[in-house]
Amino acid sequence: MIPCSASHPNTGDWRRQLVEGFRTPAELLAHLELPPPDRGTEAAAAAFPLRVPRYYAGLMRRGDAEDPLLRQVLPRAEELRSAPGFGPDPTGDHAAVAGPGVLRKYAGRALLLVTGACAVHCRYCFRRHFPYADHRTEGAHWEAVIQTLRSTPEVREVILSGGDPLLPGNGRLARLVRRLSALPGLRRLRIHTRLPVVLPARVDSGLVALLADSGLATSVVLHANHPAEITPALGRALAPLRRRGVTLLNQAVLLRGVNDDPEIQVELAEKLFDIGILPYYLHQLDKVAGAAHFEVEEERARALHRIMRERLPGYLLPALVREHPGAAAKMPL
Ligand SMILES: *Cc1c(COP(=O)(O)O)cnc(C)c1O
Ligand code: SF4
Repeated sequence: MIPCSASHPNTGDWRRQLVEGFRTPAELLAHLELPPPDRGTEAAAAAFPLRVPRYYAGLMRRGDAEDPLLRQVLPRAEELRSAPGFGPDPTGDHAAVAGPGVLRKYAGRALLLVTGACAVHCRYCFRRHFPYADHRTEGAHWEAVIQTLRSTPEVREVILSGGDPLLPGNGRLARLVRRLSALPGLRRLRIHTRLPVVLPARVDSGLVALLADSGLATSVVLHANHPAEITPALGRALAPLRRRGVTLLNQAVLLRGVNDDPEIQVELAEKLFDIGILPYYLHQLDKVAGAAHFEVEEERARALHRIMRERLPGYLLPALVREHPGAAAKMPL
């Protein structure tokens, strides 16, 4: 007999897995049978700590220092070098603050910073320098968030973002979603999350219920960058959301040495669709300080996207976009 917990992982389980994740380069590298960290890695980790769930580390190849998943999470000396054009707030988030924890950049949509924390620390993250602590929609802040949204009735869609908005427990999320679904003008709820990709157990039955029963048209936009991140475990975790009518999309970031290869991008798109996810955006890297070594030149990005267009059905081709501070939308390249 298959125990219930195998198909319905309980909330305690994902929290335990989160706590048991890797927190230092030394632990992760030893686990992968790689040489211990050099000084540059230690210094970069001191500035923005390593954080990697064991499940995600389990997708990396042992003994391969160039593994594309490892490259996304292992601190490197290059992060501490400054590069021209790379700054602390490349997406203009500071200017878009509409109230505590609310960003308004695009017509009809508001983005809520639900928490500053993440289950994994991606080295290229465009928000690594954003003062999350000042903009969290926790506890008392939620009242202010709801007030901000009440005063902007043109908002049709609320995007829960962060940090990772699935890090809070289901109880807290359900309370937030209930407040949102009571807003008269709101029709759509969207979740921007990387958590299921690095910890599929997070998609437990409570989360499925709270998203599927929100009363709003709901989508989950995942963040997977490489086909090795698309696993049967992820597919099994997401299947109940699909069955309950939640739309599943993916956004990826184009990263040098990780996925800047048309073969990899085509395989990513196909594997995503195999488990019911449509590619949505392929983001050109935001020019955040410390991430310059991940940049793919615009000409190469365009060429790669042209090849993808020739090899994929139109519905599997993500839009190649870049964010320009102050622009009315994410801009196609
Ligand atoms: C990316 C983003 C959105 C969503 O943009 P879409 O093109 O609708 O996916 C909304 N608000 C902010 C502040 C964003 O950064
Ligand atoms: S999960 Fe998203 S928000 Fe968190 S570090 Fe990675 S890219 Fe940044």
